[in-house]
Amino acid sequence: MDDLFGELLDPVLNNPVVNLVSNLCVLFFVVLSVALIFWTWRDAERRGAMPWFWALVVLLFNIFGWMVYMVVRPPEYTDDVHERELEIKAKEAEILRNGQTCPACFKPVEKDYLICPSCMKKLRKECVNCNRALNLDWTVCPFCKTKQ
Ligand SMILES: [Zn+2]
Ligand SMILES: [Zn+2]
Repeated sequence: MDDLFGELLDPVLNNPVVNLVSNLCVLFFVVLSVALIFWTWRDAERRGAMPWFWALVVLLFNIFGWMVYMVVRPPEYTDDVHERELEIKAKEAEILRNGQTCPACFKPVEKDYLICPSCMKKLRKECVNCNRALNLDWTVCPFCKTKQ
């Protein structure tokens, strides 16, 4: 029975075309695997997610390892996160530099605002004479010397 089976398959297995096709399949699979490992490694590195570990997982489990990686990988590139943090820091620094935030709600305000447009807190008072914005604790207007 085994011999008969072998005899039937023999021409198929020794067929050069079948051999070539199966070799190409193996080659394709190897190239795909290497590409997948390399891609995973690069992607994990950019996301700061243990590139060597994930490359090894894909090496061992191939497409299944890659699928697991695609599910659990961090959603953002590290560069993006870093960039956004820098942006927020720059904005905070700008607010600090200008020193113009509402003391009640911490929203940015212009230095001549009389009240905060967000929370309506009184920030400054108007000079009774020249109507310029004055600090609440000033007793005399520095612009026109009028007592408040
Ligand atoms: Zn406010
Ligand atoms: Zn004044």
